[in-house]
Amino acid sequence: MDMNYILSLDQGTTSSRAILYDESARAINVAQKEFRQIFPKSGWVEHDAKEILSSQLAVAKEAIEAVDPSKIAALGITNQRETTILWNKHTGEPVHNAIVWQDRRTADYCKQLVQDGKAEMVTARTGLLIDPYFSATKIKWLLDNVKGLREQAINGNVLFGTVDSWLVWNLTNGAVHATDATNASRTLLYNIHTLDWDKGLLDLFDIPEVILPKVLNTADDYGYANLKGYKIPIKAVAGDQQAALFGQLCTKKNMVKCTYGTGCFMVLNTGKKPVSSKHNLLTTIGWQLNGKVTYALEGSIFVGGAIIQWLRDEMKLLSSAEESESLASEVDDSNGVVFVPALTGLGAPFWDPSAKGTIFGITRGTSPAHITRAALESIALRVNDILEIMSQETGKPIKELRVDGGATGNNLLMQLQANISDVMVIRPVDQETTALGAAFFAGISAGLWSLEQLQVQWQEDKIFNSEYSDEKRQSVLKLWKEAISRTINWPNA
Ligand code: ADP
Repeated sequence: MDMNYILSLDQGTTSSRAILYDESARAINVAQKEFRQIFPKSGWVEHDAKEILSSQLAVAKEAIEAVDPSKIAALGITNQRETTILWNKHTGEPVHNAIVWQDRRTADYCKQLVQDGKAEMVTARTGLLIDPYFSATKIKWLLDNVKGLREQAINGNVLFGTVDSWLVWNLTNGAVHATDATNASRTLLYNIHTLDWDKGLLDLFDIPEVILPKVLNTADDYGYANLKGYKIPIKAVAGDQQAALFGQLCTKKNMVKCTYGTGCFMVLNTGKKPVSSKHNLLTTIGWQLNGKVTYALEGSIFVGGAIIQWLRDEMKLLSSAEESESLASEVDDSNGVVFVPALTGLGAPFWDPSAKGTIFGITRGTSPAHITRAALESIALRVNDILEIMSQETGKPIKELRVDGGATGNNLLMQLQANISDVMVIRPVDQETTALGAAFFAGISAGLWSLEQLQVQWQEDKIFNSEYSDEKRQSVLKLWKEAISRTINWPNA
C-alpha cells in the first residue's frame, strides 16, 4: 500500500493548524483552531498547555479525515518558539500555564544579568541576547515561583519542553522527551557550537539538567503519534521561522526569506559556519540534518504590516489593508514624503527605543495616496536596513529574497522592495511556508521526497525585479537615512 501523505502540525501563537499534503507536496486539507491568550498582568502572556494540545489534536484529526490515515507516511511538527512548559513526568499535568515568548516578566532579571557582565558569554555560546524572549529565564521563574517545584525538578519528577517537546511527549503517550536543534537553539541554554546543553549556562540560570529533553536532528525519529488509533511516525520537528526558511527552499548559503506580517521576519542561511552579528541580529540553528548543522542569521522589524493597520484603524485612511495598494498606485511616487514607522521605537540596526514614528516632507500637495505610498515604502526600507546588515556581516550581497506572509499580496510593496533593495523578490504559490517546511523535513526524513524533487515541484507565483536606476535607489536611500537620523533620540514629550 502506498503511503503518500504527509501531515504537518503548525502550532502557532494564536492558533493550532494542521495541513495534509499529497505526494506532490500540495496541500489537500487544512484545519485550524484558535485558543485562548491569557494576560494575567501587564507584560505577562500565557497559554493553557492543555489547550495547546487539545486544539492541536483536534485539527490533526480533522485534517486527516480527508484520507485513509494508514496512508500517511509521516508527520512533521513546527511551532511557536521559546514558549516554555514544565510538566509532571508521572501524571503529565502541566505545573503552570505555558509562559509565552512575548512574556516580559523576567525583564528585571535579564537587566541584572547584563549589568553583572554576563552578556558576552551568553551571546558567544548561544548566538542570542539576554532577553526575556528566550526560554531560560522563564524556566527559572517557574522553578523559583511554583511552590515545591525546584525540589521536584531536582529529584527528576519534572520535564521541561518548548511546545514541540510538549506535543511530542503527549503524541507518543510519554514515550519520547525530545526536541530538535532549532528549538533547542532558542532556549538560551544550548551551545550552538558544541551542540550540547551548556553546563555553564545551566549553572548561570540555576536549571537542573535532568528536566531537559534530548536534542535530535530536525529530521529524525521522534516516535509514533497515536491519532485515531493509527500510529503515524513523527519524523521532523522545527521552530516556525526555521521551518519557513526550509519551506521557502532557502537551502543554499546566502539565501534569505522574509515573512511580511504584523512585523517582518528575515532569516538568512549562512551555511556551515555561524556568523556572529555586530548589530544584534541573532545567530541561530537553521536546521540540523544527519548531525550536520546549517546556521542562520535572523533579524526582525516589529512594525511591518502593522503600519497599514494603523493607517486603516487609527487614521481611517483605508477601509482595508488591500486598499493600500490601489490608493498608493494612484500616484507615481510619495512626492517627497518619508515615513519612519518607529511606532514602537526602532530595532536593528539602530536600537533606539525612544525613537517615534515620524512623517517628513509634508506640503500642501501631500495627499492620502502619498502618505500611504510612503508607508508601504517604509516597510520595504526597514526590511532593506536588515538586508544591508546581513550582507555586511556575511560579506556577500543579497541578490534574491523569497517572501511570504499576509502583506506579500500587495504587488506594489513587493515591487518597491525589489526597487529599493535591488533584489529579485520571489513570491511562491504556496504561502504557508511554515507548515510546508515541516512537511518537507518530514517527507525527506520518511524517504518520500528528495530535496531535488522538491526543488522541481516548488512553484513561483510572481517575480519582481528592480525597476530603479542606481541613481534613483541611492537618492531614496539617502533621504531615508536622513529621516532616520532625525528620528533617533527623539526627546520625550
Ligand atoms: P500575522 O501572521 O502577523 O497576523 P499576516 O501574515 O496575517 O500577519 O498579515 C497581516 C498583516 O499584513 C497586517 O498587519 C496587515 O495590515 C498586512 N496586510 C495584509 N494585506 C495587506 C496588503 N494587501 N497590503 C499591505 N499590507 C497588508
